Amino acid sequence: MNSHKADTVGWKFEHSYTTLPQDFFIEQQPIKVSHPKLVLLNEPLLESLGLNKEALNHAAWGDIFSGNHMPLEAHPIAEAYAGHQFGHFAELGDGRAVLLGEQMTPDGKRFDIQFKGSGPTPYSRRGDGRAALGPMLREYIISEYMHALKIPTTRSLAVVTTGEDVVRNEILPGGILTRVAQSHIRVGTFQYASTLNDVQKLKALADYTINRHYVACKESDNPYLAFLNAVIAKQASLIAQWMHIGFIHGVMNTDNMSISGETIDYGPCAFMDHYHPETVFSSIDRQGRYAYVNQPPIAQWNLARFAETLLPLIDQDADKSIELASQAINNFSDQFQMAWLQGMRQKIGLFIEESADIDLINDLLALMQKNKADYTLTFRHLSSDAILKDAIFKDVSFKAWYKNWLHRVQTQKEGEEASRHMMLKHNPAVIPRNYLVEKALSMAVIDQDYTLLNDFIEALLSPYEDSKIFSEPPLEEDKTYQTFCGT
Ligand code: AMP
Ligand code: MG
Repeated sequence: MNSHKADTVGWKFEHSYTTLPQDFFIEQQPIKVSHPKLVLLNEPLLESLGLNKEALNHAAWGDIFSGNHMPLEAHPIAEAYAGHQFGHFAELGDGRAVLLGEQMTPDGKRFDIQFKGSGPTPYSRRGDGRAALGPMLREYIISEYMHALKIPTTRSLAVVTTGEDVVRNEILPGGILTRVAQSHIRVGTFQYASTLNDVQKLKALADYTINRHYVACKESDNPYLAFLNAVIAKQASLIAQWMHIGFIHGVMNTDNMSISGETIDYGPCAFMDHYHPETVFSSIDRQGRYAYVNQPPIAQWNLARFAETLLPLIDQDADKSIELASQAINNFSDQFQMAWLQGMRQKIGLFIEESADIDLINDLLALMQKNKADYTLTFRHLSSDAILKDAIFKDVSFKAWYKNWLHRVQTQKEGEEASRHMMLKHNPAVIPRNYLVEKALSMAVIDQDYTLLNDFIEALLSPYEDSKIFSEPPLEEDKTYQTFCGT
């Protein structure tokens, strides 16, 4: 029925990934579901991709985003990859995802359109290929929030319910997320290429990725080293941005680190309420490998795994190659630190760099930790007199810090107002608070009531606007929070 209108929908798929050697993917149709129903549709994203919402009715979009009605132009595949999961190497691949193709947008950009939860594939191992609705809604909320903050991320185009149950610890309604990404090439894709023991295949992947994401590297004397450096720079900047907003990814396995530098794979991720560097939310992260404070060194570890895969391409001489790659990896710390410091300066309203800034920032963090202060609101309140009413202000050490900071801000030539203005633009008022995410998801999943979820999404899309409901920190009883590996 909708196929009559298909050409008006606006699909403009290309399938450049399938020009890679056969080892890198398998053709795989999504498995149809019994009762698809569209529950979230990201209209601005739909439009920016060149798709025409009016071309189809609600039910027909549900058919599309469940995989029940494939666009004629799609050529679905599951991608092969490997990865270190909590430090252990494994062969993986899209076990519950298929890539429909690369949508070419009206402004000439290329985006992967991928279903997550669309049924088993040859890479499913023991999994059922499906996803529960709650985690797919969760990915939608948090990825769109990251985008609202202008933090590089995969996007969420739609969520459907399948009308089928999935069995986890309990029986849950199934869901499918349509994910949009610059690509799904991961550190793990390169690790997989390495396992093929064929330099030509590795080179094919590297050349493809450079052409797609880092075309300027081709001009370099050593394009593969330039490529490594470019990926390191993107990740240093990305992880710094996570740290600025108190984001904990939760499962930074190498298969969940995107080469394009987007935040990818929103499973057990969560935002920190009160500041503590060791914060971990994921129930399976028992050692705290992916704790907040460990994110920069883990990113560097992952990048070292990436660098290892490129060694045969960087130099013919193995020792030289190792030396060059090691230098590149060692640079990560400085790059991260610079990006982190720059963002932290903005968070506390500093225009001019001074060597004492780092202490000023670290002292504030230590005081927040000591006082169990809310990470988001402490920064936000610092930009107005609201901080004077916060519990942390009762701490005499904080009062001393505040006086010192205020003096610093007031003696800048830009003036106090300009500082406060900058702070308001760099410190969100609204974050996806865990207790609110849970409440909105449980109303949606259990009661099929999407009112709170939709209101929450609306507030999250304007993160720098104070909200009566959605800026509130959790009550005491909501403070113990665990996430489960987004299944
Ligand atoms: P993740 O922890 O979500 O990054 O997933 C790690 C690997 O497990 C990937 O290869 C996924 O495709 C696969 N996987 C996760 N959940 C399922 C599932 N329900 N069925 C099949 N494969 C899955
Ligand atoms: Mg993953």
